Amino acid sequence: MNDRRIKDILADRGLAPSKKLGQNFLVHRQTAEKIVRLAGLGPEDTVVELGVGLGALTLPLAAAVGRVVGIELDAGLIRFHREEGILPTNVKLVHQDLLQADFAGLAAETGGPLKIMANLPYSVSNPLLFKLIESRKAIGWAVLMLQKEVADRLIALPGTKEYGILTVLLAACATVTPLLHLGPEQFHPRPQVDSVVVRLGFEPPPERARRLPPYDGRLLRRVVKGAFQQRRKTMLNSLAGAWPELGKERWGRVLAAADVPPAERAERLALEDFVRLTRALAGEIGPL
Ligand code: SAM
Repeated sequence: MNDRRIKDILADRGLAPSKKLGQNFLVHRQTAEKIVRLAGLGPEDTVVELGVGLGALTLPLAAAVGRVVGIELDAGLIRFHREEGILPTNVKLVHQDLLQADFAGLAAETGGPLKIMANLPYSVSNPLLFKLIESRKAIGWAVLMLQKEVADRLIALPGTKEYGILTVLLAACATVTPLLHLGPEQFHPRPQVDSVVVRLGFEPPPERARRLPPYDGRLLRRVVKGAFQQRRKTMLNSLAGAWPELGKERWGRVLAAADVPPAERAERLALEDFVRLTRALAGEIGPL
């Protein structure tokens, strides 16, 4: 697949790359092959690919693994693949919104924790990252091509502007490893931003997460989202704003029990602080 061929395919079919669906197709076969190589796959593997597009990643994936389940939302692209038949027989194409995919069901069907690959449009990367966190028990790892700004948020340090909800929640369940940096020239049409391929390893859980005391994961997600809702506010005001039924006095007690200063800002707290806060809150309100 190269720039010219992609343009020809789209022109032949009267298709234009959809901005809404974030269609920036990978142009260079060597890059797609490198991403597949970096994922470290073998012939015994089944991989779920999200956002098949014209098949730039699907083809080297299908050559490297036993089976690919490819999910694509664009009916025009599904039709293209059904008519052209360029995808080999070990690829099962599914016409579906990836945000509706049942990862637990797919893991049961494919016989183990999922291996997921995707070159993701910006519009779905955030909701997909939350979905991966929610479905983490069904997922071994995900190798995702993300807009650089999104990737930066996954590995940010406390105190930086990139540090936020996803940084904290991912630190609790995944090892995040940047694998490859890609410039706009790697795609057609060229996006305005750089991309980074990132590996999220859910299995085994990261060492830092294994050292944490037990806590309610659902409560942690609510606490972290509440704390960052208005990131310039103090923890006391953010939490009392996000969760008004508890009142400032009780929030004051929870923060004191967790040893978190009420005037602290969410962006300065580490995962361990949020876990202490979650445990202190559970002590105050009982189980959710
Ligand atoms: N994997 C191909 C590649 O690397 O060239 C295509 C990547 S393109 C950035 C993203 C693909 O995801 C497009 O084919 C687009 O139609 C598809 N897509 C966008 N939103 C989707 C969704 N919610 N569910 C499934 N596919 C989606």
